[in-house]
Amino acid sequence: MKRSLAGETVGVLGLARSGVAAARLALAAGARVYASDAGDSPAAREAAEQVRALGGDAETGGHDLAKLAACDRIVLSPGIPPTAAVLRAPEIAGVPVIAEVEFAYGLLDAPVVAITGTNGKTTTTALISHVLQAAGRDAPAGGNIGTALSELALREPQPEVAIVEVSSFQLAGTRDFAPGIGVLTNLAPDHLDWYPDVEAYYADKARLFRNAAADSRWVLNAEDERARDLIGDAPGERYYFRVETQPALDELGGFLTGDGRLKLRMQPERDEVLVHRDELRILGPHNVANALAAAIAARLADAPVEAIREGLRTFRAPHHRLEPVGERDGVLWINDSKATNIASTRVAVRSMTRPYVLLLGGRHKGEPYSELLPDLGDGLRAVLAYGEAGETVESDLAGHVPVERVTGGFDEVVERARGIARPGDAVLLSPACSSYDMFANYEERGRRFVQLATGGEGE
Ligand code: ADP
Repeated sequence: MKRSLAGETVGVLGLARSGVAAARLALAAGARVYASDAGDSPAAREAAEQVRALGGDAETGGHDLAKLAACDRIVLSPGIPPTAAVLRAPEIAGVPVIAEVEFAYGLLDAPVVAITGTNGKTTTTALISHVLQAAGRDAPAGGNIGTALSELALREPQPEVAIVEVSSFQLAGTRDFAPGIGVLTNLAPDHLDWYPDVEAYYADKARLFRNAAADSRWVLNAEDERARDLIGDAPGERYYFRVETQPALDELGGFLTGDGRLKLRMQPERDEVLVHRDELRILGPHNVANALAAAIAARLADAPVEAIREGLRTFRAPHHRLEPVGERDGVLWINDSKATNIASTRVAVRSMTRPYVLLLGGRHKGEPYSELLPDLGDGLRAVLAYGEAGETVESDLAGHVPVERVTGGFDEVVERARGIARPGDAVLLSPACSSYDMFANYEERGRRFVQLATGGEGE
């Protein structure tokens, strides 16, 4: 750990995994801790108990504003929206509120590679970590990806380098966060349920560059104008990735050649061939972009080219993200249960290189399914429309593509897909809907799909 917090009092809002990790980190650094959670679930109570067992003060079912007001700073868990009422309480107006990632960064004694963007954060983060580990480096992934950055900061010995996924909410709560290498995957409107407008969302993303210095290195998307230009005139070296176009000779970064090879150009006229796109186990052009971004970041972190090749060849999609889960009787089953909106499903169908049956349905979220029509392609054998959204899916698509309504449960949907698919086809679960009409969450939906498709356990 970088420094001691002896004599400080740290408040922690939210007692899910990251909040508990932040509280443990603060206690380990010698601070006093007051942690609270508005909820009172058994899990929250157990978390509070854990903090108390380590010597902290913790409560559930509300926040003690007097105790929060006495803190030197308050750490905000990533699950708490910036609009939460407690953040507007006048009692705490004078106390700095920082993101969990900012707090952990202040104590972590390791260089940081940070990844943000609207889509592809988790995949790119996991890829960079995987590629660096193929190079023999201790490079765990953390942040918005399952392991809180506070957990990495608690590790002894400290990681050699931390690969950190950061959301816009977390960036909003950063001040000193200064990654040596930063990746911005892309930008599109998102989270408009929280932000007043899209500019406010982009402004939070731009905080990635806030502490840029001459020795910062930035990995940017050359083909996404908004993302490319968000950096403004921040200092640091710039490296670009591109998939659809070829770079000018003096552009550094990575690109896809006309014959399908991923190439790095980290110095002028020094091209390094990585792999052919067919060697990747992750599907689709968006994943070529993620792979290039990850390869550039790994090269900047000194991974040898051979290890990057090995890492790219062996990386598998994170669960439920366009994940090939098995081939049976010549039919490839693909689990993209995480695709809960039209944009994600569009990316998935664009990635299909075989004829395919598309499972579309669940709880309707409001967007018209006809928006998918331009991307469904000639390979589409049929859409199976199911769940609460089934009727809407059917009426949005009928007359344009083959669509069949399945009114039974999810098991019947998969059975019907098995009946339609022929050897050489794929069956794609990319539902463009939430799962809540039939399942507790998208993970449960994906696991059921895998079980039915392959007889396996799903994870
Ligand atoms: P995030 O962590 O940003 O949500 P993930 O890596 O979990 O991103 O991918 C989630 C979904 O986003 C994928 O299933 C895919 O539909 C889409 N996606 C992933 N990478 C990209 C990309 N580079 N460009 C556009 N869409 C992408």
